[in-house]
Amino acid sequence: MTAARRVLILGGSSEGFEMAERLVARGLDVVTSFAGRTEERREPAGRSRVGGFGGVEGLARYLELEVVAVVVDALHPFAARMKANAAAACAARNIPLVRLERPMWRAGPDDDWRVVPDMEAAARIAPATEGVCFLTIGRQELAPFAARRDLRLLVRVIDLPETPFHHPDATFMRDRGPFDLAAERCLFAEWHVGCLVTKNSGAAASEAKLQVARERGLPVVMVERPQPPDGLAVTGVDAVVQAVERALRG
Ligand code: NAP
Repeated sequence: MTAARRVLILGGSSEGFEMAERLVARGLDVVTSFAGRTEERREPAGRSRVGGFGGVEGLARYLELEVVAVVVDALHPFAARMKANAAAACAARNIPLVRLERPMWRAGPDDDWRVVPDMEAAARIAPATEGVCFLTIGRQELAPFAARRDLRLLVRVIDLPETPFHHPDATFMRDRGPFDLAAERCLFAEWHVGCLVTKNSGAAASEAKLQVARERGLPVVMVERPQPPDGLAVTGVDAVVQAVERALRG
């Protein structure tokens, strides 16, 4: 395997696994990098590594030492710092970067979305209802909800928070997607969900909850994505594979 065909995938999205498989099948030397946020992880095709690089400089050094030819940003859309680091390190070392841009979820005419820029705003405006406030925002940004003692919280997470979350009425539910529609309908009914708070990840695997909220006429507090850095952005795994091949041809 020649280093000229080495691809680094910055993983974190489900599409990253499909990309690794497709690029390995094309004979490329693929390394997928994970932040290491979850206790259990699927193994991608090709090689993998786990943990931070040490900021822009650390990543730039890694790219040079490993003679990476192309970097693919298949990060979760909310992994803003790593996206920016990737853009800066690739620019510094003159290495092509291809970013997967997953389409955002869009509100339809029957949706009651309250769109906010960040989690602080989400916690401020989440409406107190008869039912529980269902948080599907991960475990890293729960803190602003600690002050909302008027809400009953149902918090769905892959792994429990690493730091204690103090709230008088919060129930944690451990689960990971994909979540199917029938199961989401049952969950909303059983827990008497009155409001949903979520991030606009655009992931198909977690979209069913939005349909259930629509069916039940529930308010949805939707946290907008952070602005991605400039650079080549493509939609869909096919387009990423083509862009990588173009970049390798120079
Ligand atoms: P982040 O804030 O963009 O990144 C923080 C640091 O983690 C980076 O500076 C980097 O450390 C390291 N890092 C992140 N992704 C990495 C990767 N693929 N390989 C190696 N190192 C990586 O991202 P985050 O803290 O992971 O997540 C921020 C938001 O995204 C949260 O809202 C979270 O819920 C959501 N999210 C992330 C993931 C994921 O897999 N990362 C998955 C689902 C949701 P160094 O600077 O030391 O290199």
